[in-house]
Amino acid sequence: MVNDMRFQPALSQVDSLLHASLIPLLDDNFEGFIEQRKVQQLLLTHHLTIDKLMLALLPIATSFSQPRISGFEVGAIALCDEGNLYMGANLELAQLPLNHSVHAEQSAISHAWLRGAKKLVKIAINYSPCGHCRQFINETFEGAETLIILPKREIAPLKQYLPYGFSPKDLGKTEQLLNSKAVDLHYDSEDPLVISAIDAANNSYAPYSGNYAGVALEMVDQRIFTGRVAENAAYNPSLMPMHVALSALNRSGYDCGDIQRAVLVESSDGKLSLANNSLDALHSVTEIELEHLVL
Ligand SMILES: [Zn+2]
Repeated sequence: MVNDMRFQPALSQVDSLLHASLIPLLDDNFEGFIEQRKVQQLLLTHHLTIDKLMLALLPIATSFSQPRISGFEVGAIALCDEGNLYMGANLELAQLPLNHSVHAEQSAISHAWLRGAKKLVKIAINYSPCGHCRQFINETFEGAETLIILPKREIAPLKQYLPYGFSPKDLGKTEQLLNSKAVDLHYDSEDPLVISAIDAANNSYAPYSGNYAGVALEMVDQRIFTGRVAENAAYNPSLMPMHVALSALNRSGYDCGDIQRAVLVESSDGKLSLANNSLDALHSVTEIELEHLVL
């Protein structure tokens, strides 16, 4: 029996030989992150390859899914070059158009990005990645080489799933998602939530619009969740900062009803604004107002 009942149904779908190792991991603090040291322990203890382990853990990642519209649960696990595993799951926002959806792959990759990962090596998913996600993965540093791991299918690099792919290079960009330089938006504030939102904006990825943007959400217990915009060469698969933050909040097991403040920071140099998009997403889960700073 796990401490956190969120994971009990998922654990029943994982090979029982892994239960003794996973039960201590799946406590109240588990947010879908397994650091390299623990990954290595799991591999050694259970004589597994990393690919087999990632597939075996997919039910845990899928347990974070919130498909409020489709009811279709998708989980993804990203392995980055430092050896950590980052889980993600799809998130759909009630009452909003379908383009407000976060796909499982986007959730896992943004999870890795928020924790400082620089290079995606492999990603395991319980369903074949949609075209939108193939394009999203192609935006990451050396993304065409990312290995795609699916149940009952040969492992293959993204370039096999996305032949003749369109990439940032086609638009003359040399930076890529997970590997971009921070910008330097400034504002004098001692408010931890505003400082967190500025930091998120400074580490966001907006090579196409120049609209560097970050969101910070404060919970009733003062925990802060942040999100950054992750633009895409094909524009439409871009991931919005409020959606990145809500996805992180969702993985943590917090309730959106416990958000007490929300801040959006964006660059004044951008060719667009994310204010309406952020407000719509926020208001699908809570009635609180959005504080908006343009720097
Ligand atoms: Zn997708």
